[in-house]
Amino acid sequence: MDFTLSPQLQEFQLQLRDFLREHVYPIEKHFDETRFRELLPDLEKARARVKERGWWAPALPKELGGMGLSLLDFATVSEELGRSPLGHYVFNCQAPDISTMELLHVHATAEQKERYLQPLAQGEIRSCFGMTEPDYPGSNPVWMGTVARRDGDDYVLNGRKWFCSSADGATFSLVMAQTDPEGADVHKRASLFLVPTDTPGWRLVRNLPVMGLAGQDWPSHAEIALEDCRVPATSMLAGLGQGFALAQQRLGPGRIHHTMRWIGIAERAFELSCQRAVFRQLSPGKTLADESTVQHWVADMRADIESARLLVMRTAWRLEHLGSKEAALDVSLIKFSTAAMLGRVLDRAVQIHGGLGLLDDLPLAFWYRHERGARIYDGTDEVHRASAGRRILKSWK
Ligand SMILES: Cc1cc2nc3c(=O)[nH]c(=O)nc-3n(C[C@H](O)[C@H](O)[C@H](O)COP(=O)(O)OP(=O)(O)OC[C@H]3O[C@@H](n4cnc5c(N)ncnc54)[C@H](O)[C@@H]3O)c2cc1C
Repeated sequence: MDFTLSPQLQEFQLQLRDFLREHVYPIEKHFDETRFRELLPDLEKARARVKERGWWAPALPKELGGMGLSLLDFATVSEELGRSPLGHYVFNCQAPDISTMELLHVHATAEQKERYLQPLAQGEIRSCFGMTEPDYPGSNPVWMGTVARRDGDDYVLNGRKWFCSSADGATFSLVMAQTDPEGADVHKRASLFLVPTDTPGWRLVRNLPVMGLAGQDWPSHAEIALEDCRVPATSMLAGLGQGFALAQQRLGPGRIHHTMRWIGIAERAFELSCQRAVFRQLSPGKTLADESTVQHWVADMRADIESARLLVMRTAWRLEHLGSKEAALDVSLIKFSTAAMLGRVLDRAVQIHGGLGLLDDLPLAFWYRHERGARIYDGTDEVHRASAGRRILKSWK
């Protein structure tokens, strides 16, 4: 495997780094998820600049107005954009919309594409994804309480979802619901529905206070009630009983996007730490960088980031060339190991900054809070470790 970046990608990487410094870092005025709305005018200007340069939606195919990058190339782009909490949003490749677009591109009807996919691809609307429930374990997604009952040409959905990221202000949701709760094959009990959020019976109960902050708009995580929520049968994506398979399909490349974004976060934390270490004087003429403890931390951070990147690139390569089945073990390995790397790097970065590391003046505290979730969303550490361990030991039996 050769991970040398093509000359074009190397150039693009540097252009992205400059673009972020010039047009995105200045918008990082505050890291308070409740004030995202205040940033929107500046974010829209930055998005217009991205479109002008032809960099819009790098992961989307060209026919949807994207750049049509391969998974491996987008991995590098995702890392660059991850250096800012706003990077992916500005380029319209933010979760959860990016995975929703990939799914709709393959499975939506022509009408759904025109009504939902096109405006999503243009950045005119947002979406959310509802699988996890308060009363059932997200770690076992074949077991859930939300039910979709067939009624003539419609389905009627009832149940409760939570942790629906970006639900506040979303135009539509993808909702997993059981269509055959007693079915013998547990993986075929649920189906996936496209439900507009203005459908009667779709109700945002509250924005969840995650790590002390109930975000709004895109940085929200909401609890949703579905109360006799009626949708036409044509809202079902990819046919009866395909919910679980679609959710898995959605998560595979999504884990490459997330883990490379985390590496971008780690790189920015590393940069900030090195800048701080050489700048902060402990006594006249002596800086933090002169302390061997700090030197060791910086070396550990570098080794952590470099090895995580190699493992993620290798996984992206295997996914792209061998398919999701062959790469399943690799995907599990990067999910928990990159999340752990991110936690270690952010913790050291906060420590190097001292009190400043805890202030929302820098993105570090925001990431330290927010990315604790990296060990939980898209499959918890324990679920991925167990799955990886099972696969490894199977070959030894
Ligand atoms: C920031 C954030 C954003 C999210 N966004 C979305 C979203 O947009 N849409 C959506 O549907 N969901 C979303 N989620 C939900 C997420 O997918 C679930 O939280 C996750 O799957 C875990 O499910 P749970 O919270 O129900 O925990 P549970 O399943 O109740 O698990 C609780 C604990 O038990 C442990 N555990 C579970 N199984 C095992 C096992 N076999 N062995 C050992 N330990 C085990 C887990 O590791 C976990 O720590 C989000 C979560 C977060 C934190």
